[in-house]
Amino acid sequence: MKRIVLASRPEGAPTPENFRLETGELPEPGEGEVLVRTHYMSLDPYMRGRMDDAKSYAAPVPIGGTMEAGGVGEVIASNDPSFKPGDFAFGMLGWATHGVQPAKMLRKIDPDQMPISATLGVLGMPGFTGWYGLTELGRPQKGETLVVAAATGPVGSMVGQLARLAGLRVIGIAGGSEKCKLATDTFGFDACIDHRAYEAAKDLRKAISDAAPDGVDIYFENVGGKVLEAVLPLMNPHGRIPICGMIAWYNAGGLGAGANSDTLTGPDLWRNILVKFLSVNGFIIANHWDRFGEFLKEVAPRVASGEIKYLEDVAEGLEAAPEAFIAMLEGGNTGKQVVKLV
Ligand code: NDP
Repeated sequence: MKRIVLASRPEGAPTPENFRLETGELPEPGEGEVLVRTHYMSLDPYMRGRMDDAKSYAAPVPIGGTMEAGGVGEVIASNDPSFKPGDFAFGMLGWATHGVQPAKMLRKIDPDQMPISATLGVLGMPGFTGWYGLTELGRPQKGETLVVAAATGPVGSMVGQLARLAGLRVIGIAGGSEKCKLATDTFGFDACIDHRAYEAAKDLRKAISDAAPDGVDIYFENVGGKVLEAVLPLMNPHGRIPICGMIAWYNAGGLGAGANSDTLTGPDLWRNILVKFLSVNGFIIANHWDRFGEFLKEVAPRVASGEIKYLEDVAEGLEAAPEAFIAMLEGGNTGKQVVKLV
């Protein structure tokens, strides 16, 4: 089997040298465990945090440890009656061609129900994140206006499409005119603004304001940085900001160092929250798996019917994972980034 381990911790943006490919024996499943051959593995922004040795909501990957990832594949050996060879399963299989997991940590997948890669994106953790954050914390109301960045990614595209279906005006922010075209033409956003076209937050703010003449009721926070600076002053009273992610700052080693803001200071931030009576809620989706069944029940039929669309960006082979991951953090992906191993 092959796996990719964390060779060293990055300073700023990760580089290929932070990763190392290793080859070894196929692992043996122990009692109650299952061996899965990974067909698709997921690359997600949260993995950048796992590369740092910093206190966070999850433990860091140790140096020499296999990089963490969700994966989906075929069971090739099982020491648990709930799985048999030939079954398909999702689990935290890591950046590796094969993974061993306790059976109870795996979810059985029916490959006849949906393409198995969808369990990593639209019908997996990122899609669920968008659904949960929007419905639970965004509390969308018909006629309101929502802004979401990383609009063509698996979280942003889920948020935007659900909000649009709920009767909101939906404004996407994305990197580049092609992604913006996808946001409007494929995902049905009312408008999309290319954040790369604006150097200064105030100019981006003007563009968002033009697209949101009634102000912004929900800012679904995926990115932080310049987009946050641009949107915050446009929030309407009683607006909601589900804080899902802040990818603009991930490579900067945390909020402080990377923010580099001369327009949005701490006092500005608090003042906006106070005078606009904003609800600002951070959430980590891993704490809400009890709602996953509800999400699937509601969203899977809408994906199957084509009402909710999704895009995947497929890198080929385990060796391609580091470059694809590094690129994703800078917007190099179009749609859910997965790696195809089989
Ligand atoms: P995406 O597939 O959308 O990939 C990340 C995207 O972020 C890039 O493609 C790029 O899109 C955008 N981006 C990168 N840098 C910047 C920047 N400086 N300014 C604006 N946009 C930028 O990712 P996901 O849909 O998987 O995740 C979206 C967010 O949700 C992330 O912040 C992630 O960490 C978070 N998340 C949080 C979870 C939670 O439990 N709270 C769970 C899952 C995800 P573009 O080129 O369009 O700018």
